[in-house]
Amino acid sequence: MIEPAEARAHVLAHCAPLATVALPIVEARGLALAAHVIAVEDVPPFVNSAVDGYAVRSADVAASPVELAVVGEVAAGAHSTHVLTAGEAIRIMTGAPVPDGADAIVMVEDTTRLDGGARVRVAQAVAAGASLRGRGDDVRAGTELFGPGTVVTPAVCGVLASVNNRTVTVTRRARVAVLSTGDELVTDGSPLQLGQIRESNLTMLLGLVAEAGAEPVDYGVVTDDEDVLADTLRRAASECDAIVTSGGVSMGDYDVVKAVLSKIADMRWMQIAIKPAKPFAFGLLDDGGGATVPVFGLPGNPVSSLVSFELFARPALRQMMALPNIDRPQVLAVAAAPLRRRPDGKTHYVRAVAGFGEDGRVHVRPVGAQGSHQLVATSMANALVTLADGDGVDAGDDVPATLLW
Ligand code: AMP
Ligand code: MG
Repeated sequence: MIEPAEARAHVLAHCAPLATVALPIVEARGLALAAHVIAVEDVPPFVNSAVDGYAVRSADVAASPVELAVVGEVAAGAHSTHVLTAGEAIRIMTGAPVPDGADAIVMVEDTTRLDGGARVRVAQAVAAGASLRGRGDDVRAGTELFGPGTVVTPAVCGVLASVNNRTVTVTRRARVAVLSTGDELVTDGSPLQLGQIRESNLTMLLGLVAEAGAEPVDYGVVTDDEDVLADTLRRAASECDAIVTSGGVSMGDYDVVKAVLSKIADMRWMQIAIKPAKPFAFGLLDDGGGATVPVFGLPGNPVSSLVSFELFARPALRQMMALPNIDRPQVLAVAAAPLRRRPDGKTHYVRAVAGFGEDGRVHVRPVGAQGSHQLVATSMANALVTLADGDGVDAGDDVPATLLW
């Protein structure tokens, strides 16, 4: 058996970042910028009002309360050509350009309409510059907004739109082939014959790949037939950036993934000192065009599939997309209940429900069923507690936990 850190290092060493590509900003969401973004426009592009109110000359309202003549109105999207002179005010809405001659805005809350709106009483004096938003307050043209490695979040998309930056250069989103193997797997809803089960890993892994920020591509369930599997894997390698398989990587007689990948790919078959998910395979398969794609051979037991995806495939796929945060958040949590185990030379990843306690710390409580075939309990978990080899921990002890949220 090898330590999980060694397996992870081996995988990460073989998953280089993908090429960069220019994409419309909305399609780049969740990806990492691969170039500097320099603003080409000021935001805001003109001096405008921060409030609904009246544009005034601050000198005119210094002795408030005062009355001013309302000589016009300017809404957002419009502009006024009137140059404000002594004793005048212009009704103005949030975001509208401030008319020439005005140097402050009085909030509507500090005013009273008179004569059906022809005049206004200003109750409060305002300083020059009050409630004005300066040109370039948010962004100055020519400044660097974002550097390589910045993740294109919705807010970053918003900034890019605000400066008319319609496309960005990012590291490509990984297209990830997902397939399941096993003669026992039924996908079409037909009644189960003895020995058959419903397929579940493919469905789950397509979702895990998408949640990792990559693009899942469904290659379906492949029977335990070496030729069919070899064809499917070669096709996936030529069409995708990585392949995730489930099942067929352990010691059984029908572990065809192992048989096929041993022949057509450069694989490392691992027994990792963890529970669940001890068997795991990683390697490189020719894409038919002179390059290779990483192949993640996950074990077939559903909980093992999920845990080995989390530990090895997810960080690797995120590294391929040059994302800065390849890992889930890790915390030192408080065990809400005893977490008992026996020494077996393995690190245990206990599926748990994590939540904040009144002490402000994360508390973790194991979900009931911890069998590697018992997906229901795991589906309710939102954390993996790392239980080092030994006897476990008592309630109240500190334990490291990976948050799956
Ligand atoms: P294997 O790794 O192929 O020996 O499979 C280990 C266990 O996981 C067996 O009980 C399989 O029936 C089960 N299994 C494998 N693939 C899937 C799948 N896609 N969905 C649900 N169970 C699976
Ligand atoms: Mg199998």
